[in-house]
Amino acid sequence: MKRVGLALLAQSLLTSCKSDDSPGTDNASKKVIVVGAGISGLAAAKKLKEKGFTVTVLEAQDKVGGRLRTNRSLGVAFDEGASWIHGIDGNPITDLAQQAGMTTFHTDDESLVAYDLGGVAINESTYANAEEAFYDMLDSLMESGSPAKSFETVFNAEYPQYADDRLWRFFLSTYMTFDRGDLDKTSSLLYNEGEEFGGIEKIATNGYDTIPIFLATGLDVQVGQRVSKVDYSGSKVKVTHNGTVSEADYAIVTVPLGVLKKNSIEFTPALPAAKQAAIEKLGMNCVNKFLLTWDTAFWDDEQYIAYTPEAKDKFNYFVNVKKFHPTVNALMTFAYADYGRQTETMSDAQVMDEIMAHLRDIYGDSTPAPTNMLRTKWATNENAYGAYSFTAVGSEMRHFEDLAEAVDDKLFFAGEHTEVDYFSTAHGAYLSGIREADKIIDL
Ligand SMILES: Cc1cc2nc3c(=O)[nH]c(=O)nc-3n(C[C@H](O)[C@H](O)[C@H](O)COP(=O)(O)OP(=O)(O)OC[C@H]3O[C@@H](n4cnc5c(N)ncnc54)[C@H](O)[C@@H]3O)c2cc1C
Repeated sequence: MKRVGLALLAQSLLTSCKSDDSPGTDNASKKVIVVGAGISGLAAAKKLKEKGFTVTVLEAQDKVGGRLRTNRSLGVAFDEGASWIHGIDGNPITDLAQQAGMTTFHTDDESLVAYDLGGVAINESTYANAEEAFYDMLDSLMESGSPAKSFETVFNAEYPQYADDRLWRFFLSTYMTFDRGDLDKTSSLLYNEGEEFGGIEKIATNGYDTIPIFLATGLDVQVGQRVSKVDYSGSKVKVTHNGTVSEADYAIVTVPLGVLKKNSIEFTPALPAAKQAAIEKLGMNCVNKFLLTWDTAFWDDEQYIAYTPEAKDKFNYFVNVKKFHPTVNALMTFAYADYGRQTETMSDAQVMDEIMAHLRDIYGDSTPAPTNMLRTKWATNENAYGAYSFTAVGSEMRHFEDLAEAVDDKLFFAGEHTEVDYFSTAHGAYLSGIREADKIIDL
């Protein structure tokens, strides 16, 4: 963990020393409305309730979890949002998963087979050498970057030899576009910012929604309540949801950056200029996920099957679900950025055809069609309008802090997009909820 991470730890230790664990005697008279029942909102609500506050969570959807959302309709847990605990060492999700009963599996990055067009296997050392060169590029590209230039512009200028290299396109897509966003919109200076926890990657096997369901237990969560207005002009905060106005001493708004960008909620008075600028400048990317099932498995017995098509960001790797669900014959694949958005206009049959073209190129023309498919459409989802935030061209790291800034000690903001060290992750969202609860407790 780097310096900033230690500072965060020290801060939270101080906070936990300052306030004892017992519910505050005066707190019950203080009412808090939390907008959004994702992991950030629920973490804040749980902590505040434990401290004796009267807390109501208003959630637009008919269930809790937000971007921790699991579809079990095919008999296997398909996580439509987060799947992985990214680095289990020191990650708050590791303990939370244990408390919540979320089962996990170590997805071994070394268990990988890669194919080029025509199903030609990519030699292990070719892959490893390109990956190493790719990491070296990531370590230094920002030295040629500038605030107005995108990652793509600088990359193409510095590394023209890789412009048409399919393996490089694969790395750019799966390591950069997946984590950040469209390369022509990602900052050439800040693409590598943010902290990471160490340790292995673990994937949820019985569903990531286990965590929000656990956090929500015992809380007053009102589902099907879409918030349209937050008025913080008076001594109380007035929150309009489904035509009803509820009042509270404090409100914590945890809706995704995409929802804030769409101005789906009217704030009175308007949000401070710094917050509005941050909402505009930071990016919201698109990642879509697809789960396909078959009666029998025909693919390699490895954790990951990589493929290097001409088109960028298009179904270029497959997670072998059978590795952690031995009785389930399923693969999970992804589409990012522009291609990800394009899939949202395609029918299921069209999507399946495109995915099968890749699998048939690898495994032969007689590869059977899938029995079923589940898919996401995050870019057009009115509860998110995208997958997660990223450092877009023109953004600065302080924009995450501006998003986290409280207004008038009444209006608070949490969510992955407010966490400067761990934005775009489930753990970042969780930490942001705890952070905002602590702010209210300390008032
Ligand atoms: C495809 C995808 C893959 C991901 N993979 C990973 C991963 O592997 N590992 C990882 O750590 N992270 C991953 N993430 C990121 C992680 O899921 C999020 O960072 C985290 O879940 C965000 O939590 P949140 O509380 O900030 O927001 P959300 O979970 O989005 O919660 C916000 C809530 O607000 C509600 N809402 C919206 N508008 C309104 C309104 N007007 N009124 C009331 N309620 C409203 C929403 O319905 C939602 O429930 C992934 C995300 C996606 C989409």
